[in-house]
Amino acid sequence: MKTEAAIIGAGPSGLIAAETISKQGFNVAVFEEHQRLGYPVHCAGMISVEGFKRLGIEPDPVFHQNTVYGGRIYSSDGSCITIKDTKPRAYIIDRGPFDAYLAERAVDSGVDIRLGSRVDEIKFKQGAASSLKLNHSEFKSRVFIDAEGAKGRLLARSGIHTGQQGVYTGFNTELTVDSIETDMVEVWFDTETAKDFFTWVIPISQNRVRCGLGTSQGNGAEKLRGFVKKRFNKEVDVIHGGLICTGGPVNRTAYPGLMLVGDVAGQVKPTTAGGVVIGGLCAKIAGENAAKALETGNVQHYNEYDSAWRAEYGPELQTMLFMRSILNGLDNDRVNRIFSAFIEEGLEEKFTRLVEDGDMDMQADVIKRAISDPVILGALAKSAGRIALSEILSVFGF
Ligand SMILES: Cc1cc2nc3c(=O)[nH]c(=O)nc-3n(C[C@H](O)[C@H](O)[C@H](O)COP(=O)(O)OP(=O)(O)OC[C@H]3O[C@@H](n4cnc5c(N)ncnc54)[C@H](O)[C@@H]3O)c2cc1C
Repeated sequence: MKTEAAIIGAGPSGLIAAETISKQGFNVAVFEEHQRLGYPVHCAGMISVEGFKRLGIEPDPVFHQNTVYGGRIYSSDGSCITIKDTKPRAYIIDRGPFDAYLAERAVDSGVDIRLGSRVDEIKFKQGAASSLKLNHSEFKSRVFIDAEGAKGRLLARSGIHTGQQGVYTGFNTELTVDSIETDMVEVWFDTETAKDFFTWVIPISQNRVRCGLGTSQGNGAEKLRGFVKKRFNKEVDVIHGGLICTGGPVNRTAYPGLMLVGDVAGQVKPTTAGGVVIGGLCAKIAGENAAKALETGNVQHYNEYDSAWRAEYGPELQTMLFMRSILNGLDNDRVNRIFSAFIEEGLEEKFTRLVEDGDMDMQADVIKRAISDPVILGALAKSAGRIALSEILSVFGF
């Protein structure tokens, strides 16, 4: 059987794109460099309830570990803002079994997954992607999808430089603790530990947590060890590292014969670096357009993929990117002042209501509503200073 669509990478984006194309009746092969699906795991595994609904996935016991309702957000001086919903907000999943579950769905729909198959190069002929180079062999296909993840090494080797910004290191570990609230995550803002990002504690059960951070500077693994020691008085055994994308989408995700999806395309929330949902949704759009290109032979469908996902999620990602740049500009002192102003003004209740109505993946609306609220604006003005505030307002047209 001749392969019609070849996909690089068996992460969520590659697998969802593969399943979508295969369901349209085309022969699809996925090339994955690792021998085991979903491993090594470096993901914290927090996926919004609405994100799973959008992807059409149920929280299967095979990968679903816990459900959380909100979070305690800390600044570096230990001040805490608590936001808790009455309904479940996010599922905590185990990424290894989750990726294996997506692979099983893809295989059931007819996809051929080739483990231990590292692609060395995407070859182009007359300006269009034409084959993959693996070891010493060449693999031909009509459509190619690059879902290789944040590193983008293959693209660079194939002469495509996306200029992706804001890619930082992310570290994750799991540990046993005496006791932890099972329905709340912790988020810590401290630029000394996690510059330009944050540190998280995610409960898996009453005695087990997943703990990690992202940072643009320094030795993140050492910083994570320091955080765990301070927070839990524990030593860490194994730390897994990966890359987090906080810089928004790359400029171009479609080339003749080739589409980029997921982390390699920057289809990731710049606020939290969560890419499973947005990447998965864009992968569906890529899969649909790949199937149309195969059906009609019209290369225009590659560009239609690029404009379709940008029309759907571009403005959301831009607003989150702006929020990320504001957050990156705040030092510990300013964050501490914002926290104490918000606590003094009793804004937790207001934030809880905003979050209850808001969407964890499509955050633009809640960001806009938060900063157009007069009471929140007052607290920001008091603590953050007028220059930062007028900057924020101008972006939203105030
Ligand atoms: C520490 C950390 C915590 C995170 N926590 C969360 C979270 O809680 N929630 C969330 O939504 N997101 C989280 N993310 C981000 C999330 O992991 C990514 O957004 C998501 O995995 C992107 O999916 P993808 O399919 O695009 O890429 P990946 O999942 O990275 O998959 C890419 C696949 O391609 C394979 N590959 C690469 N190059 C080649 C090649 N040349 N040939 C063959 N195969 C190749 C890789 O082995 C890999 O299996 C986290 C990331 C990190 C680093």
